[in-house]
Amino acid sequence: MRRSLIVADAACKSHLTGFGHPERPERFDAICTALQSTGLLRQNNWRKARRAMEDELLLCHTLGYVRTVQHEVAQTGQLAMLSTGDTVICPASYDAALLAAGGVLTGIEAVLGSDAATSFVVSRPPGHHACSDRGMGFCLFNSIAIGARYAQLTAGLQRILIIDWDLHHGNGTQEIFDADPSVFYFSTHQAGIYPGTGAAQDWGSGEAIGTKMNFPIAPTTHAREEILAAVEGPLMRAMDDFKPELVLISCGFDAHSADPLGNLNLTDEDFGTLTRLALQIAERHAHSRVVSVLEGGYNLQALATASVAHVKVLQE
Ligand SMILES: [Zn+2]
Repeated sequence: MRRSLIVADAACKSHLTGFGHPERPERFDAICTALQSTGLLRQNNWRKARRAMEDELLLCHTLGYVRTVQHEVAQTGQLAMLSTGDTVICPASYDAALLAAGGVLTGIEAVLGSDAATSFVVSRPPGHHACSDRGMGFCLFNSIAIGARYAQLTAGLQRILIIDWDLHHGNGTQEIFDADPSVFYFSTHQAGIYPGTGAAQDWGSGEAIGTKMNFPIAPTTHAREEILAAVEGPLMRAMDDFKPELVLISCGFDAHSADPLGNLNLTDEDFGTLTRLALQIAERHAHSRVVSVLEGGYNLQALATASVAHVKVLQE
């Protein structure tokens, strides 16, 4: 059995988004309750998130944008819309976003320090839509991107893979690393929906061309086979050349068949299969090091069952 850590901090529930918003605090409890009741989350494999420091936010974000978030959150009486994009903020949002980014750093520190082989970070707000100078799509700071840069900076890693199987394209992650060949970004996402980026021809720019791989998936009955095939074929082959030293997962569960925002049809079992494939890449190249980070996923029941399938494999 693999030593696997779960980073989860209930303080992320203080980030409020308003009645009827799909990205809601109950998502955290849905996942943690399911992991606890199945014995996957225990006192001895659980850790709280640390807060990211401002310097760490600046690994991926401009100072101007960080100040915008600080200022707008400080001005917010109850709920407001972030000026840069469709992200609701409340007075606790800045702190929750620091914990979300810091939670990824906690997971990465554990995995790089050999405390654990794998880690699952249950946090919100999500991060993969956050660009260097603007938040959008329910995201404030790009937690997984900050994690990748942090791992490079502190452990001297040269090559990191980010697998993003969220329903949506992680436009922020792609933007941050678009011209950076040291971070390979792979995404499967539903074609034709928010945020509209991530075309199949989008391979990255400059010397990084070929280190970004996008698979827009049409919402047909074959969607799940196409997602699994993209990981099993093109991604596995690309990784035999790229040889990542750390595997990060932007783990959205909104490509689940029960999700209200999407029309892809992944099952709980498929999330287990995807996790096993990610682990295979990590076993082959990255000393089994995987840090998985919650992104989207808006059906509470699907969040519960799919995260159990995901973590079961991380702990195998
Ligand atoms: Zn999503």
